[in-house]
Amino acid sequence: MPWLEQAWASLQKRIAENRLPHALLVCGERGVGKRRFADALASLLICDALVGSGNQGNQPCGECKQCELVGAGTHPDIRLYTPEKSRMIKIDQIRALSAFAVSSPQVGRRKIAIIDRADQLNINSANALLKTLEEPSDDVVLILLQESGRPVLPTIRSRCQSLLIQSPQEEEAARWLSTEVMKLDEQERPTAEQCARALSLAANAPRLALEYLSGEFLAQRDQALDGFRQFMKGQITVGEAAKPFKAMGLDAALWLFERWAADLARIGVGGQPQDPDAVDMLGYLARNNPPWRAHQLLDSIHEARSAAVYNVNPELEASRLLIAWQALMPSRQRTSA
Ligand SMILES: [Zn+2]
Repeated sequence: MPWLEQAWASLQKRIAENRLPHALLVCGERGVGKRRFADALASLLICDALVGSGNQGNQPCGECKQCELVGAGTHPDIRLYTPEKSRMIKIDQIRALSAFAVSSPQVGRRKIAIIDRADQLNINSANALLKTLEEPSDDVVLILLQESGRPVLPTIRSRCQSLLIQSPQEEEAARWLSTEVMKLDEQERPTAEQCARALSLAANAPRLALEYLSGEFLAQRDQALDGFRQFMKGQITVGEAAKPFKAMGLDAALWLFERWAADLARIGVGGQPQDPDAVDMLGYLARNNPPWRAHQLLDSIHEARSAAVYNVNPELEASRLLIAWQALMPSRQRTSA
């Protein structure tokens, strides 16, 4: 993934100058490859016999005992902390991390804890993490991942060194994606048109586009957009319109609503929307509403995302947001006036 190279080089420099922090906060768009980056860094930090490879700096040897364990996915000194059933990282997970951070490494020289993601720590988990961040043992490195646009508590952020992963340009993203889809079976291989569409929907985040192409998301999203349109015109009930949103899960549904609301805000100020398929509907709404309505919608989507911590019902949240959208239809405003 060539767009990761700049961040990788910056990291190599920090390591060479012995400036690698105990806690690194890696930030980037959804689907840009943050987790891959964290895994690569963990392999680099754990290898016993790094090999130099020109301007790419040092690389893991791939042969030592550490690399073997990393390759098998069973290295006991690399741990991953990620939300389990709920959308948030639980305090018990952070307690386990704290214990891991002070324990002795089992086979490596140091321990590495990856938190995927730091923006999914609730207040309690974040507070539990503070002690480890404030008084880290010498042999532990914490790699925290953050999705762009999702807040990380300032107490956490201020104790980490940040590293931003830039998203690739459209052309670079398309090149990577076309190489990746060639690895798929011929029957499963998406067309160039499907690739372009997935990339555009994923805002050029190549890994996300690949995920779209290999999963059901694109079909679900088409159904959701259809339902959304029909509901806005008063042709179907909110319950019917909410179904496809429920099917894709709350996280994806909120993301979709957020994309549309952000596009509505963009169109409102004469900018270019990111989702070409919804542009007719959003353009119409933008012409008939003051720009602040888009921001109001964005706020309620962010509220829904915070509420998601408490395991809200996805169908209810989708219905609530659909109704908030429908209030933007000019006919609705006349009726309510
Ligand atoms: Zn090695």
